Amino acid sequence: MFFLFVKKMKKLGGYCSLVHWIINFKSYEFLGYLCAGGTAATASPCRFGISVPLYYFLGSREEIFTGSSPVPRLVKMVYIAKQPVNGKDYYYLRKSVREGDKVISKSVAYLGKTKEEAEKKFKEMEKNKQPEKNIVASKSVKNYCPTKISIEDLATFCKQKGFVFRSSDIYGGFSGFWDFGPLGVELFKNIKENWWNQFVYQKTNMVGMEASIISHPRTWKASGHIANFNDLAVICKKCKKATKIDVSEEGKVKCDCGGEYEVKGKFNLMFKTKVGSIDSEDAYLRGETAQGMFMDFKLIQQSSRMQLPFGVAQIGRCFRNEIAPRDFLFRCREFHIGEFEFFIHPEEFKCELLDEKHLNVSFRFLDEETQKAGSEVLKEVTIRNLLEKKKLDEWHAYWLAEQVIWFNGLGLNEIKIREHTKDELSHYSSATFDIDYEYPFGSKEVAGNANRGQYDLIQHQKESKQSMEIFDDKTKTKIIPRVIEPTFGIERVFLAILTKAYCDDKERGNIVLRIPAKIAPIKVAVFPLIKGEDFEKISTKIASDIGKEFNVTYDKSGSIGRRYARQDEIGTPYCVTVDGESIKDNSVTIRDRDTTKQVRLKISELKNFIKMLINEEISFENVGKIIN
Ligand SMILES: [Zn+2]
Repeated sequence: MFFLFVKKMKKLGGYCSLVHWIINFKSYEFLGYLCAGGTAATASPCRFGISVPLYYFLGSREEIFTGSSPVPRLVKMVYIAKQPVNGKDYYYLRKSVREGDKVISKSVAYLGKTKEEAEKKFKEMEKNKQPEKNIVASKSVKNYCPTKISIEDLATFCKQKGFVFRSSDIYGGFSGFWDFGPLGVELFKNIKENWWNQFVYQKTNMVGMEASIISHPRTWKASGHIANFNDLAVICKKCKKATKIDVSEEGKVKCDCGGEYEVKGKFNLMFKTKVGSIDSEDAYLRGETAQGMFMDFKLIQQSSRMQLPFGVAQIGRCFRNEIAPRDFLFRCREFHIGEFEFFIHPEEFKCELLDEKHLNVSFRFLDEETQKAGSEVLKEVTIRNLLEKKKLDEWHAYWLAEQVIWFNGLGLNEIKIREHTKDELSHYSSATFDIDYEYPFGSKEVAGNANRGQYDLIQHQKESKQSMEIFDDKTKTKIIPRVIEPTFGIERVFLAILTKAYCDDKERGNIVLRIPAKIAPIKVAVFPLIKGEDFEKISTKIASDIGKEFNVTYDKSGSIGRRYARQDEIGTPYCVTVDGESIKDNSVTIRDRDTTKQVRLKISELKNFIKMLINEEISFENVGKIIN
């Protein structure tokens, strides 16, 4: 069976993709592929003259390869690899999965310190027939117990713990502006990095940029922000509450008390400023990040030698002069948008990257038909369903799926997606979707996804008189690309993470903030259990060693229970305790925030396991024997 494989691949030139995979394992000594079949073979030499010892694959042909012509592509495989750490060897079961043009490799289980040990352990896992059972991704996310908390209480909690403060608090605050404290800045940075990792680093067709916050005033004329970026200031005729509504909502919405709104005036949301001399023309703080990417589109395409389709991503501060900022970080005047513009040939609607993984992405969906019927009943749908109903094109579907995948990766599985109705759509957009999250104050937009067509580039071409056309190598024609634009409100993601993570654990008697380990502000806390120089010396050495890679804290005051509680409350996923045994056998205990389970580990193995835990490459139960 296996040999058939190799022959077939040879015939089809499939070795290219094999070699490509193997080169990805640079830091690992390659021992072989593993599979249920159990046949060993050596495939050599291949066309590049590299000799590769092949053991066997894990999984069926369909699981490993996709597509049969002209070249089958590897999609997934599992193998044993040896990784030297501080001069010692550790064996892991690793899994590599192709996503687009990239291969993403992860350790899925620790197998021991010798090849024999590794093979034995792997055989045991095979016997259990469910090796994947040990691979628990986003474990911290699965057993959560969110406690309902009001947005006001969440703001108070964030202030007490140092996540978020009112801006200019000593002057009574400044409405619509917030400061991130020591923990907030870490969580916020980790969210941005996680986003950048998925959408820029893991994509071969995406590059990043950072545009200036103030740009030429004509930018905003071209984009339509000066003419159209307005809200209506309204006052309730009954309860006299002042608020704002969208221009499109005039005459359609009522106050919460049931009263009608009286329109007081139209307000442009752009923040005006003066640049240089006093009589200079008005300039604006950007109301969105998108325009920077449109204006630099050709410079990026030429300097980075990008071919269509490709995207440009950016995360940055934006400003909107909201009439009524409210709901803590949800609607503020200064905030961050993470978004990308994905440029595609205007006649290209097929997306080669759209695979089963994307088609099977599921979520709760509110379609146009349901809304028109005056209902808000959600349907459980997949991306495949939406394509079948021609709600969007393949590229649009791919990016919507990628957005959902990102949210799910952060444990935010409760998102719902709402289709914009035809009369809501901007004239340039053929389809727009809101991604909503259930916040304490209701289900509100956390992200969006618009098909912007060629609108923005054409607008800038008209206003600047500069051609926005590029030469497409594939079709040998000059074209203006069409654009898909996924957008994320980063403060809104931050708020969703905290809403989901907050858990008042009655049994423990303290708050447990179940933030996924990979984005937690502090990853590890180190405690000496016993007072004394020896214990503190070991503890600070561990802390400084882990601190080279992760944000770590050291705490020697108070009872151990109190110290655990303090870390639970700020979401620290792992606590390491140095005790009497540590001096004798160089071992420590590591405690898991979500289960309070503990495992005894050698100090020399600690950092490596912490790394695997944070990267969700191993579950806590597989780190070692649970001792409590
Ligand atoms: Zn009212």
